[in-house]
Formats: sequence, structure tokens, C-alpha cells
Amino acid sequence: LKVTFTPIHRRDRGITGTIVVLQDVTEQEKLEQSRRQFVANVSHELRTPLTTIKSYAEALNDGALEERELSERFVGVISNETERMIRLVTDLLHLSRFDSNGAPLRRRSAPIHDMLDEVADRFSFQLRQKSIKASVRVEPGLKTAWVDRDQIDQVLDNLLSNAIKYTLDGGTIKLTASKSTDGTELEISVKDTGIGIPKKDLARIFDRFYRVDKARSRNMGGTGLGLSIAREIVKAHGGTISLQSELNEGTTVTFTLPLLQEGGESA
Ligand code: ADP
Repeated sequence: LKVTFTPIHRRDRGITGTIVVLQDVTEQEKLEQSRRQFVANVSHELRTPLTTIKSYAEALNDGALEERELSERFVGVISNETERMIRLVTDLLHLSRFDSNGAPLRRRSAPIHDMLDEVADRFSFQLRQKSIKASVRVEPGLKTAWVDRDQIDQVLDNLLSNAIKYTLDGGTIKLTASKSTDGTELEISVKDTGIGIPKKDLARIFDRFYRVDKARSRNMGGTGLGLSIAREIVKAHGGTISLQSELNEGTTVTFTLPLLQEGGESA
């Protein structure tokens, strides 16, 4: 609460009263604080790979270049860290476009089954690498959604890549699409049998840069922005996104989208 006192002066009679203004600044203050936190996070996230790159480049310069095997490893680290920085900056650009409302949706009717099949195809290499079985199931009768396909592909990519990242070898992932109970919306879920998320972290899991285990996520190339981006895109479509998780059992992320009704009108 901000309180300001302004005395009321009358030319001939001096101070005759006081104006007291009580201003609720908590919302404003909170926003400002989260903005500061965000800038601090971005700086930190960019600094970490840069410091790694710098030290490996220096090591190469200081003689590691002479040893073929060692230098190959170091160059590998440098290139991984560079790729992660590129992903981070791309993600940040994405988010900032949402913040300034500069990403208008280009909605078209999109075939639901294809959308899910194709995201599984895009990750088939990673799935095979970890021997993870992925399946796609679409409720009979569900045909098309009314969405910006590129953006929803991005949501699906983020969710499936998380599911793969946080599922141990030999696990399973189910992609399903069904109608919401009231029949007006499409519900898409990505369900994994992975490591899960502790209860205490669930509330903040969609926050920018929030990660259950920073070190682990970074090692896996995560930016900590995947779920926030997914939420922005789903929100822009008028849908909602939620996550359920049981530690050591698995995680299910579900989001809703408008359905394309018969006759071409969106629901
Ligand atoms: P990241 O790039 O770190 O994966 P995200 O925003 O996509 O960032 O996810 C935030 C955090 O949520 C992750 O670091 C991870 O700890 C947790 N998480 C997300 N998806 C899953 C999942 N399917 N299983 C377990 N943990 C998950």
C-alpha cells in the first residue's frame, strides 16, 4: 500500500487540510518484481553456456588442441552449448512475441489424427533411441480442429520432447485426443510413464524457467521455457492446459482446443 499526503494550501489561510491518497501497489509491485526476476533468469541462463564455451575454448587454446580425442570432446561440448543458447534465444523470441501480442493466430481446420501421428514421427528417432513405445489414439468421430497448426505443432513438440526426456528407457507414451465431457472442446493429452514431478513443484511448473532439477534439465538441453510457451499458445487459442503427475509413475499433460463443428463453424 502506498500512502501519499498532500497539504492543501490557501493563499491567505495557510494549510487548511490534507489530501491522503491510499494506493494499492501490490499488483504493480508484483509485476515489476516478476519482470526483474525474468531478466535475472535470462541473464543467468545465457551466462551459463557462455562461461562453459569460454572455458573449453581456453582449454583448447592452452594445449588441448594437440590431443585429438580431447579436442574432439571439447568441440562437442562447445557445439552443444551453442545449440542450447540458440534454442533459448528462439524460445525467448517466441515468448516476447506473445507478450506483445505480435503473434496473430492463423487458424485453419487441421486433421487431428495427422497432427498426433506427425508429432510421433518427428520424434521417432529419439523414441527408438530410448526404446520408448509411443501410441496414438483418437476418439472415433473426431476429425478436425480449428487451430494455428504451426503453433499447435510447437505445443505437441514441447510436450512430447518433455515426455521423452523425463521417461526412462523402455517406457511408454500415449498421445490421445477425445471430446470434452460437454462435447464442445477437443482434449489432447500426452501421458508418459516417466520419473514424474514432486507435488511441491506442481504449482510452479508452468512458470518461465521453473525446473524441478535445474542441473538435470540443462544437461538434457532443456531451457525451462517449454511449458510456458505451450501454455501461451493454448491460451491464445482459448484453451487451457493442465498437468497431473505422480512421482516415479508418470506425468500427463492435457490441453483443450476448440473443435471445428460440422458446417465449418468453430465451437
Ligand atoms: P525444460 O526445458 O527444462 O524441459 P519445461 O518448461 O518444458 O522446461 O519444463 C519445466 C520442468 O518441468 C522441467 O525442467 C521438468 O523438471 C518438468 N517436466 C516437464 N515435463 C515433464 C514430464 N513429462 N515428466 C517429468 N517432468 C517434467
